[in-house]
Amino acid sequence: MKKSFFPLYNDISGNTLGIHRYDFGIGQKMVYIQGGMHGGETTYFIFHRIYNYLSEIESELPFSVTLIPIINPQAWSQRIYYNTVGKFSLINGKDSNQFYDTSTPEKDFQHYLCYTLKSIAQEYKYGFDLHTARVSNPYLYIEADNEYYNEIAKILNFKINLVDFEESGDFSSILARPHKGNKKSNTVKAFTIECGSHDDYDEIKIQEVVNNLKTFINYLIENSGEIILTSKPIKLLKPQNYIVAPVSGFVNLFIKPNDKILKNQELGHIYKSNDLSKAIPIISPDDGIIIQFTKTVCIMEKEELIWYGKIL
Ligand SMILES: [Zn+2]
Repeated sequence: MKKSFFPLYNDISGNTLGIHRYDFGIGQKMVYIQGGMHGGETTYFIFHRIYNYLSEIESELPFSVTLIPIINPQAWSQRIYYNTVGKFSLINGKDSNQFYDTSTPEKDFQHYLCYTLKSIAQEYKYGFDLHTARVSNPYLYIEADNEYYNEIAKILNFKINLVDFEESGDFSSILARPHKGNKKSNTVKAFTIECGSHDDYDEIKIQEVVNNLKTFINYLIENSGEIILTSKPIKLLKPQNYIVAPVSGFVNLFIKPNDKILKNQELGHIYKSNDLSKAIPIISPDDGIIIQFTKTVCIMEKEELIWYGKIL
């Protein structure tokens, strides 16, 4: 294993912020795994276990695997009290993962960071971007409508696979979709993994992601880095379905992540904040599967309350 440090910039106190990179094995650049774009993503534990696993098998690894557990040190150094602020730079208000226009690296921090990460990632055959999201179980984003992507999703074996063909500018989308102006990128099969609830240590969710990534690495070892297509079916969910809060108030939800829901099912109540006598039912508009929901019990009118997937 080779550890290296890539400096990004010197902060106002004169200290260098940068990226720690861990390279395992030699030979073809096969798997690249990054995480920690937004601060507060508790994926570091996953990287730690993958690090240990790769250390054990490194002598038999026929290709190279690279881990970068904290890709955005700026997000992690922005804290209010004990929590990281989250998705946005406090300096320019941008979410680095939504500014993957990497054509002009010198423009601002987001461009430089993304240019740097893309330059690393596009040398690999498979790329994974690890995040965490509100109250949820681990799930996979498939970024391209392609039998190879579906086959990789089957190997990874997450319980929920979302297909997101909407235009977006994030890391895995930029690498997975060559029409975004990155011709070289069509050699990288890139995925986003949402690893479960934000800010929490959850043994089951951590181990699920670790097991699935290990299964994929082992598959590549057995098959010399190639994906063999099978006719095994895969269940895909269309993700763009939200239930917003009908009023401002305090929420009590009856659901869990991955629950199946039916049209007209009562999913919870909102206790209306300007009328103590009212508990308003939240009704499902569709059949679907719960992906994630609000982490706080206090919610404002028209804020996103529940996110669910529809089976394709
Ligand atoms: Zn994130």
